[in-house]
Amino acid sequence: MSRFFTNRLSNLIPYVPGEQPQDKKYIKLNTNESPFPPSEEVKKAVAEESDKLQLYSDPECVELRAQMAKNYGLGADSIGMVNGSDEILNFAFMAFADERSPLAFPDITYGFYPVFAELNHIPYSEIPLKSDFSICADDYIGINRTIVIANPNAPTGKYLPLSEIEKILASNPQNIVIIDEAYIDFGGESAVKLLPKYKNLLVTGTFSKSRSLAGARLGFGFADPEVIKDINTIRYSTNPYNVNRLTSRAGIAALENDGYYKDKCKEIAENRDWTVKEIQKLGFTVVPSLANFILAKSDSIGGEKLYLTLKEKGVLIRHFDKERIRDYNRITIGTKEQMKILIEKIKEITEEI
Ligand code: PMP
Repeated sequence: MSRFFTNRLSNLIPYVPGEQPQDKKYIKLNTNESPFPPSEEVKKAVAEESDKLQLYSDPECVELRAQMAKNYGLGADSIGMVNGSDEILNFAFMAFADERSPLAFPDITYGFYPVFAELNHIPYSEIPLKSDFSICADDYIGINRTIVIANPNAPTGKYLPLSEIEKILASNPQNIVIIDEAYIDFGGESAVKLLPKYKNLLVTGTFSKSRSLAGARLGFGFADPEVIKDINTIRYSTNPYNVNRLTSRAGIAALENDGYYKDKCKEIAENRDWTVKEIQKLGFTVVPSLANFILAKSDSIGGEKLYLTLKEKGVLIRHFDKERIRDYNRITIGTKEQMKILIEKIKEITEEI
């Protein structure tokens, strides 16, 4: 830390993203990206748009929001577009949480939540997941806090039924409840259908996982138009051009050919089910997942050891050195070929011990 760094943030511990190694080619199953490239239409649209890069992007994202509105059956004023869903989480924390409405989220969840809370000096409480890693909705009933729940949760992959989410929304009418749906397209049912009933609901989503656009940085939020206006107040006070031209065009093209991403999500869900069966045969315990990853623990090798040995063998998975999940690893679901190699390598490793 330099001597110039503000005291205000001197205790900030930044988020640690998953490795993006540039040295050698790994089978990359560590950051929940799609194993599939964007569609040809998306690539073509981006190439065409590059002709206009001398011009700023549209801060209103009019075309992109119109296409989103069409795909999701919502009014354009209920939609906010951002530079990856991380950004809308940060904006929402800034806009809706403070000492009077502190944050609450599960103890095991997306690692950025406490970082954004610290960055914005928002007090927060971490509510323990049950022993099977599920969220107990009763723990959130009437707690009068700004609540954020990833659904499916990360890194567990566990899905919380909408009926449970509805209980949380109904019992905290004075607070925003953020449902982070980064992984919803791999199996769960979106909370979007609850929007007409709950003005305190903010659903966030991303093009990073199911739509193969992690590198483009495109995220979104769905909420009551007044809530979206508040998000935009923060957005226009930080970076109105947060969605760049290439990304915006890529997003529109991706939305126009929805079929491509739906096919890929189906394939990933099938690969997930196959991987769960195969890894269980090797003595692993797997948390039931509706996401594009699984959280799994071996009965014969520790989490960190498995992560390191697989890395040596050219397969990257994610290990979290965190209580309760230290024995586990999070494994992103890739192509069938990638998953076959993963299983083969794990077999080799467990036979060697
Ligand atoms: N929410 C959750 C639960 C995530 O795992 C991620 C991915 N790291 C994000 C949000 C943010 O994704 P992005 O910023 O790429 O949209």
